[in-house]
This record gives sequence, structure tokens and C-alpha cells, in this order.
Amino acid sequence: MNHDLVIIGAGPGGYIAAIRAAQLGLNVACIEKERMLGGTCLRVGCIPSKALLESSELYKEAEHTFKDRGINVGSLSLDLEKMLSQKDRTVKTMGGGIDSLFKKNKITRYSGHATITAPGKVSVNNGDETTELEAKYILIATGSEPSTLPGIELDGDRVGTSTEALSYEQVPKHLVVIGGGVIGLELGAVWSRLGAKVTVLEYLDRILPTTDLEIAKEAQKIFEKQGIEFQLGCRVTGVKANKKTCDVEIADAKSIRCDRVLVAVGRRPNTDNLGLEEIGIALDKRGFIPVDAHYETAVKGIFAIGDVIGGAMLAHKAEDEGVAFSERLVTGYGHVNYDAIPSVAYTNPEIAAVGKTEELLKEEGIEYRKGVFPFIANGRARAMGQTEGKVKMLADKQTDRVLGVHILGPRAGDLIAECAVAMEFGASSEDIARCCHAHPTLAEAVKEAALAVDKRALNF
Ligand code: FAD
Ligand code: NAD
Repeated sequence: MNHDLVIIGAGPGGYIAAIRAAQLGLNVACIEKERMLGGTCLRVGCIPSKALLESSELYKEAEHTFKDRGINVGSLSLDLEKMLSQKDRTVKTMGGGIDSLFKKNKITRYSGHATITAPGKVSVNNGDETTELEAKYILIATGSEPSTLPGIELDGDRVGTSTEALSYEQVPKHLVVIGGGVIGLELGAVWSRLGAKVTVLEYLDRILPTTDLEIAKEAQKIFEKQGIEFQLGCRVTGVKANKKTCDVEIADAKSIRCDRVLVAVGRRPNTDNLGLEEIGIALDKRGFIPVDAHYETAVKGIFAIGDVIGGAMLAHKAEDEGVAFSERLVTGYGHVNYDAIPSVAYTNPEIAAVGKTEELLKEEGIEYRKGVFPFIANGRARAMGQTEGKVKMLADKQTDRVLGVHILGPRAGDLIAECAVAMEFGASSEDIARCCHAHPTLAEAVKEAALAVDKRALNF
């Protein structure tokens, strides 16, 4: 079969690239080895984790905060099976949505494992048969999968990754999470809210290594108050799984007995059996596919985007690369501004950021001014009863251009969009401060942080 463009992987990178290329008139095929389209993000990532975060937060609110607001719900109980099936339904519906988008955009879907056999040639094996495809261009968007540690055997049951932690059939009594990154905190929060004792073991002396340090420290204190235990500077040397328990062994410390272990120490690029070496594409030291500024690999006509090329492992980064790739291929133009990619941890409160951290500005010798506004002084946050956290804005000392915004607080993930747009337009903190923000909204905290850069916050 002949196509203009063959895309390997239907995650947010691959399926969005396919839609944009089809919109631009290319004959596009997309190969996916899993039955459902949508990739890690839809099947075992962003969407199912957010479904569980929403449900578990509602459960916790019903348990702890409804009463204070005069809402009596009688006796509360957890139907975990139903909670998990709501998550599965959400995923299934959205998977069907991508099928429809493929049909609407006349994208040909192939099911099976893809291997590149030569430039312009891809073979798809679905277990029963092999289909040979030819294309002018090939895009690799094969994403990533969970990493593990030496000394830890993932048994897919007691000792597992985020994939298992999205579907535990019972609330663990004691869940040990190895890794205090985004997955550890989000999924740790889910099971903690549902009643598990949660201990997070982090190798570094801080959680969330890429987050602004001041924000990460404050977040840790809040999560500790919520009941999550942290052991920092902690080197896990192995996990022994017994019939009903596991022993997590730690260098220079007592081992911990628990009933579930979640290994969340990062993700590795997925390039297994893609045929890259054979066609002359060497991987970098960490296993990522090196590409140039136009996402082209060492072999002409073969491109790569998303988690498999490294950088921020985020769905929206993969999507934007997909759009930029397809637009560049057809129109000659296409661009991602890597300085304005927001990131969000969907804990409660949420943690969101765009641009540089305070540590990075210091390291790079960039002079800046800092404006901080706490949610405790924001009317809407008060009305919501969610006053923890703050907005922290960093702006260039000379030009006032916004260099970074870091938010710990309610709906931080939604608030950061304004900051990303502002940074994309090269806004100054004064620009944001002069824009009218509706009252009473959480967004007023962003405006006040912008005012605070010039030491003129109004409500604090
Ligand atoms: P993927 O989504 O990994 O898709 C790659 C696809 O390629 C897969 O479907 C795979 O089956 C297929 N594939 C691989 N090899 C082959 C082959 N040889 N042949 C055929 N098909 C192949 N990011 C966010 O931005 N926000 C979040 O809230 C968020 N939450 C997350 C929560 C969890 C628990 C996890 C694990 C991840 C989360 N992420 C989140 C990260 C996000 O899922 C990834 O960054 C994103 O999915 C990467 O997109 P991608 O298209 O590069 O790859
Ligand atoms: P991560 O890189 O965010 O965090 C891994 C953590 O594990 C780090 O803090 C690291 O220091 C720690 N670690 C590494 N080795 C260790 C060891 N031996 N012992 C103890 N701790 C160790 O990775 P993750 O949490 O697994 O997430 C993977 C990717 O998925 C991330 O890149 C993230 O961007 C993405 N993701 C994003 C979201 C979101 O956007 N909301 C949610 C989940 C996942």
C-alpha cells in the first residue's frame, strides 16, 4: 500500500500529526499496535489518572468538607469497582472518538507492530499476517514506557508501575511509591484519598525535581498534612515480593513492609523492534531518537516526535510537535516554542508552571524581579475553601518580560494557560497586571502576582 505519510504510533503525538497532515491534503496512514487509539495518554496515562484523581477528590471532599458547608450525605461508602469502571468508560468513549476522527479525516489505520525495513518502507505485523507499506515520509511517534530499577522485578501485581496503579482492585493498606515525581504524587494522592497509607521514597533530597524549589517544598508540606509520608534521599536497593506483602529494601535504612509497590522513577523511550539500527538511526545515550530542528532523524524522510525524542514527556508537547511536523512538511512552516510549554501536576492543590524556575534564573545569571500572591488573599479561593498555595511570577529585572510563572493552588492547571499565552506573546508583568480580570476568580491571583512584581499588589 502506498501513502504520502506513514505514522507509527497513535498517541497524542502520532494521532494529532495524522489529523493535521490529512487536513493539509496528505494521504495518511497510522499504525498502532494496541487495539485502542490514543497511546499512553488515553489508555494508561493522562485520562485514566485524571478520572481517578477527580473521583478520589470528590470522595475525600464528601468525607471531610461537605459537612462544613451544611451538606449532609448520610453514611459514605466507596464502590471502587464503580469508580474504576467510570474511568474505563471515559477512556473507551474517548478511544471511540479518535476512531471517528480517523474516519472523518480519511486516515487509514493499520493494527499491528510496525518495523521500518528501509527508508520509505514499513512492515506491519499483527500476529497473523504482515502488511508491507510504502510512503514518501515516515513519522515515528512510538512514545515511552515505564522505567524500572535494578533489583526490582515488576510482577504486574504487588510490584507494578502506573499502569497497575490505575486499576488496583482493592485499596492498598500500605502503598509504597518509589519516585517522588509527577506519577508518584498523582497516583499516591489517589490511593491516599481512598484510604491507603502512602509512603513516597525519593532518591533526591526534594520531590518534583524540575519544579521551582520553593513551590515543591511548600507542596510537600501540604501533602504531608494530607497524610502522605515522604522519605527523601532514599536509595531503594530492591523489592522482595511475598505472597501478600512486599519488602522494600533501602540502603542504610530499615526496609519497609507494605502490600503494594508503585515504581514511578521515570519513563524510557519505546524503540523496541522498530528496525532503527538496521537502517542507520543510532539512539542517544538515554535511548532517545536524535532529531534536527525539523524533527528529521539521521535518515532522510524519517522523522520522530513526542516522548521518543526526549524533552518534556507531556501529551501537549507531543501534540504540538505533531502539528508543527505536519505543517512544516506541507507548508514549510511549523514551530514549537519550547520556552512556553506549561506543565501541571494534578494533585490537590495543583502545581503548574511555565518558563524558568528561580533556581534556573540564578544559575544562568539572569536578573529578575519576583511577585508572589497567596491564594489566602483571593476571594474566590476563600469561597471555595481552598486557600493553600500561591502564584509566583518571575520577570526580567530590566525589561519586565515574564520569564516564568509557578502556581501552587486550586485549578493551577487552568490558570497557567493565561501565563503561557502571555509568555508566547512576550508579555511583561505590567501587561498582565493591566488586563482586566473578572471578579471573583482565581485568575485575579495571577493579576495580583503580576502587580506584586512591581510591589503594588492591591489585596495583600
Ligand atoms: P504515546 O502516548 O506513548 O503513544 C505511542 C504509541 O505508539 C502507543 O500507543 C504505542 O502502543 C504505539 N507504538 C509503540 N511502538 C509501536 C510500534 N512499533 N508499532 C506500532 N505502534 C507502536 N502528560 C500530560 O501532558 N498530562 C498528564 O496529565 C499526563 N499524565 C500522565 C499520567 C500517567 C500515569 C502517565 C504514564 C503519563 C502521563 N502523561 C501526561 C504523559 C503522556 O502520557 C505522554 O507524554 C504522551 O502520551 C506521549 O505521547 P506520544 O504520542 O509521544 O507517545
Ligand atoms: P519523573 O521523572 O517525573 O519522576 C521520577 C522521580 O523518581 C524523580 O523525582 C526521581 O528523582 C525519582 N527517582 C529516580 N530514581 C530513583 C530511585 N532509584 N529511587 C527513588 N527515587 C528515584 O517520572 P514519573 O513520575 O515516572 O513520570 C514519567 C513521565 O510522565 C514524566 O516525564 C512526566 O512528565 C509524565 N507525566 C506527566 C504528568 C502530568 O503532566 N500531570 C503526570 C504523570 C506523568
